[in-house]
Amino acid sequence: MNTRPCRNVYVHVPFCNGKCAYCAFYSEPEVNPASVTQWLDRLENDAARKSAQTLTLDTLYIGGGTPTALPPETLKRLFRILERHFSFLPGEEISIECNPESLTEEKAEILARHVNRVSMGVQSFRPDFREKIGRRPSDAHAVETALRLLRANGIDNIGFDLIYALPGETLANWREELDTALSHGVRHISAYSLSIEEGTELAARRLPPEDNELSFAMWEAAQEILAAHGMPRYEISNYASKPYECRHNQNVWHAEPYLGLGPAACSFDGAVRFTEVSPLARWLAGIPPEADVIRYEKRLGEMFIMGLRTVRGWKKSEFSRVSRLPWREMWSTIIGKQLQDGMLQETPDRIFPTEKGLAFWNDLAEAYL
Ligand code: SF4
Repeated sequence: MNTRPCRNVYVHVPFCNGKCAYCAFYSEPEVNPASVTQWLDRLENDAARKSAQTLTLDTLYIGGGTPTALPPETLKRLFRILERHFSFLPGEEISIECNPESLTEEKAEILARHVNRVSMGVQSFRPDFREKIGRRPSDAHAVETALRLLRANGIDNIGFDLIYALPGETLANWREELDTALSHGVRHISAYSLSIEEGTELAARRLPPEDNELSFAMWEAAQEILAAHGMPRYEISNYASKPYECRHNQNVWHAEPYLGLGPAACSFDGAVRFTEVSPLARWLAGIPPEADVIRYEKRLGEMFIMGLRTVRGWKKSEFSRVSRLPWREMWSTIIGKQLQDGMLQETPDRIFPTEKGLAFWNDLAEAYL
């Protein structure tokens, strides 16, 4: 399979103020100034070295970690580095993740000069639920304040990240969370069911197992409530009207190459996936990224099922462009069965998951791997 030119960059900011009990992402639990400088020095080096692998960018996504935990001067230097080494297409999408409690007036002003999309980690509006999953406490007005600061500086494309199926949460509680989120007038909602990952503090607490039926009802409620407010589901866990869908993630789900910078960041060149090493100390020591080299048919299956996480699925011509095998014939038995089982739908030019296919995406995906 040929590698393809890359128009998407992801930057991993590996610092947080503490560690949430459910979190399995890689991040350091404090913003240590010496480590931050070392991280940024190395990032600058990597950006200079690897920017030649990219074309003019369509999307840049700064995630973590907690990018807004960085001090203002560091944020400024980060943007200087990225803007020096990458160029952007007109209408580019530049996103950053933000924790409401770490956003200040000064940081909001800096973000407004460089980004046009903010994804805010809320998880739950209720302090009792936040506490149950070990999310750091937050002042009751942190979300309102952060929204006000961002909007006052001209950033309107703001989304919330929420978690449902929290310990003790009822369907009615979750519906209230969605209503509260909507009352803030945000443009995008990501809603993930709580997943208890091995090695996290939450896993050690041995909570009762997830109630699958309740969790499914919550997933259905998200679509019912958000779609009624003009924000339909466009991926298993993401909701927005068309212009506010996350283009970076849409590109990643649709097998577009992306370059990842920073410890634990992933890259995809159209053929091979690479993961930068973590923790920070190993990454700073210059240990090269790990390459995930697999059989071509398996990679093709991976790319296909990622696109089937989205409601739009694949335009057949789009998937044929990224693959070089006669995929429709190759998977004709599997696809035929999934069409019959009501997991997939097909038109002359498209193939896409049904609601059942999205709900049971793991089963749908397994057949291609
Ligand atoms: S703020 Fe986000 S990345 Fe940081 S510890 Fe909490 S969940 Fe993990």
